[in-house]
Parts: sequence; C-alpha cells; structure tokens
Amino acid sequence: MEITKREEKTEGEETASVKDLRSLSREELRRLITELSEKGYRGDQMYTWMHGHYREDIDEMGNIPKVLKKKLSDNNYGILPVKKELVRVSETDGTRKYLFRLYDGNMIESVFMKYEHGNSVCVSSQVGCRMGCRFCASTIEGLVRNLTAGEMLGQIYGIIRDTGEKISNTVIMGSGEPLDNYDNAIRFIRLLTDEDGLNISQRNVTLSTCGIVPMIKRLKEEDLKITLAVSLHAPNDDIRKEIMPIANKYPMNSIMEACRDYYDANKRRLTFEYSLIRDVNDSEEDALELASLLKGMNAHVNLIPVNPVEERDYRQSEHSRIHAFQNKLEKNHINVTIRRDLGRDIDGACGQLRRRYLRNSE
Ligand code: SF4
Repeated sequence: MEITKREEKTEGEETASVKDLRSLSREELRRLITELSEKGYRGDQMYTWMHGHYREDIDEMGNIPKVLKKKLSDNNYGILPVKKELVRVSETDGTRKYLFRLYDGNMIESVFMKYEHGNSVCVSSQVGCRMGCRFCASTIEGLVRNLTAGEMLGQIYGIIRDTGEKISNTVIMGSGEPLDNYDNAIRFIRLLTDEDGLNISQRNVTLSTCGIVPMIKRLKEEDLKITLAVSLHAPNDDIRKEIMPIANKYPMNSIMEACRDYYDANKRRLTFEYSLIRDVNDSEEDALELASLLKGMNAHVNLIPVNPVEERDYRQSEHSRIHAFQNKLEKNHINVTIRRDLGRDIDGACGQLRRRYLRNSE
C-alpha cells in the first residue's frame, strides 16, 4: 500500500479502510480464504509469508495466485504496513531506537536492546496515550489511535528485517497503555507466541500497565504465562496521584489485590516499575513504605532513573539516592534491580524521538 499522507492523523479521524490480514490467526486466515472460494491452504502460505518471512507486501508472495490477490484487494483486505522511517543507534550500548511510519502517516517508536539473555524489543501499543502520566512524553498530546495486532507485530518484524538478529524477548512498554487497547494487545501476544510465527515463549513476554484494575482482572482469565509489570512509581496514593492521573480511579490497595490475584492464577513473579524522580518519590521513607506495601509478595522492583523529558520539570535522582533507595528495599527483603540506562544518548525515554522528529519536520 502506498503511503502518501505525511502528517499525523488525530483522534476520531477515519481508521483504516483496509482490513489487516497480519492481525488474523492462521485459522481465521484459512476461513477467510475459503469464504473467498479459494483453497484453505493458501491461507497457510500467506501466514508463512507474513509471520515466517516478515513480508508486508502481498505482491511479494510468489506462490499466491493473482486471482486470490485480486479478491482480497476487492474485499478491502491488505497488510497495514509498518515502515522504517528513522533509526538511531546508541554509541554507548548498541541500543537501536526506531521510528516507524504507519499507513496513515502516524509515527510510532520501538526499541531494540541487547541483553546477555538475548535480544529484546520494546513495542508500542497505541499512537500516543491518554493515561497522562506526568513523567511521560508519549501522553503529551493524548491518544491518537490504537494499533492493530499486526501493527504491533510489524514493529518486531521490521527490526528483524533491519538487523538480521533473532528476537527472544518482547516488552509491551513503548507508547500507549496496552490494557487500554485490550483485544489487540491479547491478539498480538497470541500471534507473537504462535509456534508457526516467531514462537516467542510466553514467559519472555512482559506486558506493562499503569494499573487499570478491571483489565488486570480480565487478563488473569486469559491463561497466558506472560509477566505482568505494573508501573507503580509511588509508595502511596498521595504521591501516585501527583504523577499518575489513573491513581484517582484505581487506588493502590485495589491494584495490589488485582496483582495478588494475578499471581495466584498464573504463578508468574510480578514486576513493579518505579521511576525515581528527584524529591518526588525517591526518599528512604518512600523506599520503606514501598517495602511494606510489597511485603510477602513474589515481586521484583525495577528502579528506573527517570529520563528527563524536555516538556516536563522532573529531574533524575542523584546516584547516591538511587543506591540508598535500592539498599533500603534490599534490607527489607525486596528483590530489586536498577534498570540499565540504555540508549540515553538517542532520546531513550518513551515518546521523545517521535516528538523531536515531528517538531523538526514541521
Ligand atoms: S507511562 Fe505508559 S501509560 Fe503512562 S502515559 Fe506514558 S505510555 Fe501512557
């Protein structure tokens, strides 16, 4: 599909008129092809082109008959493309930050990171976000639109095509709140972990949420062995409300209860993300309060020195304070690590590369 529109679309504008084939399961694809009076195995062939060879142009699918291609296009089926617009490579750690262009001209960010245990991609689940977290650049202009499952996969496939590297881990932690785009996020996870696709182990998939309690409860019922990461960023409701508007809707005790239930159902250790912001949530008292909140849970705290965002006034905590916070948690038997500060030199914080790029192309 040719992209002609270069500016971004805004919320409420027309969504794709093309129905995204890459978002369909193998069975759904077979069914669709049969309904178009073609042989079902053509669906398997197309599935392999998309999810085994990472192709997003139907014309490149050599063994698919022209007549089927025409029927698909006559019925408005296609593959929503995710095209590489820009890549920035960190000189310090090799992290690659991608800006991808979607069919409607919208831009999204994804990040490729190398770890000892394998390569990981951080994908976006929405264009923009409506959650309003104060330390986040992705939410400054609100939600533009949800991504389809195929557009989420397209970010990973685009990175594989670009790097030739194998991907073993995925975190849904880029722009957007995945549980605010629930059906597409679940569909994405099922396709990502499908044995005929990338076949990533569910255990190597992490979904990060700011804490939409009813959706955490729904996720529990999906029988997925993924890791749930909750962006907590505060030890109590008062501080959390200051930095995360969602805290006005779902208090801390309801989040903790939903997390405990999730653990009871899935037996997957929980992750709590905690961005340390200077003089906001980084005191030793905050660490103590956090420790008592998480006491007895099978949980891991990921401390993130907050990435400065130009438009916001939050600053990163000093190193001594970050380590004092970590020590306090450890002394109280909380499992904790400080996230490696990957890609700082390439606008590492979520949403920053996109914002800068759009500003510069104005
Ligand atoms: S941190 Fe996540 S949930 Fe919060 S505004 Fe940013 S993208 Fe949305």
